[in-house]
Amino acid sequence: MIIAVDGPAASGKGTIARALARHYGLPHLDTGLLYRAVAARVLAEGLDPAREGDVVAMCDFDESLLESAELRSDHIGKTASIVSAHPLVRSALLQRQKRFAQQPGGAVLDGRDIGTVIAPDADAKLFVKATPMIRARRRHDELKRHDIDVSFDRVLADIRARDDRDSRRSEAPLRQAADAALLDTSFLSIEAAVQKAIALVDARRATAG
Ligand code: C5P
Repeated sequence: MIIAVDGPAASGKGTIARALARHYGLPHLDTGLLYRAVAARVLAEGLDPAREGDVVAMCDFDESLLESAELRSDHIGKTASIVSAHPLVRSALLQRQKRFAQQPGGAVLDGRDIGTVIAPDADAKLFVKATPMIRARRRHDELKRHDIDVSFDRVLADIRARDDRDSRRSEAPLRQAADAALLDTSFLSIEAAVQKAIALVDARRATAG
């Protein structure tokens, strides 16, 4: 079974995808990490993330980079959303994601274009969303827990800018696949959101026979 989980930054899609993978005993790939790894190399080499030709040379990174905690930073997330808009960068990372999705037994993948591009034939597709204010609140609380001092307005502006870039790009923009179930986590606890996600996946499997 292939499960595709898409949605904007801080919507809860990563937490939900990990919980689904555990529940169904499937391997999980956080595809955002691939773009973050490219962004980290671009920054480390002092390259301009807007120059497609330079960025594409950074797509062949060492697997161990994906383990680095540094990839989770907001700065790298922001750079990832710039490098991910380049069509050549997306095509350089495409086969690797498709292979992961098509492995025997299935997989759970989360990102922006899993249901639309990477696994259009997925058995279950979820589009996870929450209002920008609520996503910014979650991200701000998380930063505070890590003693990172940044204003709420700044976090909200960053979230809006990232949504804007991810939705407006011409190649594989962030959008809900026509056959994806919508899961709004705005007013749900993590546990409630996960239970709802499992119910939606089970319902899809039941209708698919
Ligand atoms: O999900 P995460 O915040 O880690 O993703 C970082 C950035 O990578 C996103 O803002 C988006 O621009 C890009 N991304 C993408 N397609 C995916 C996953 C992530 O374009 N499938």
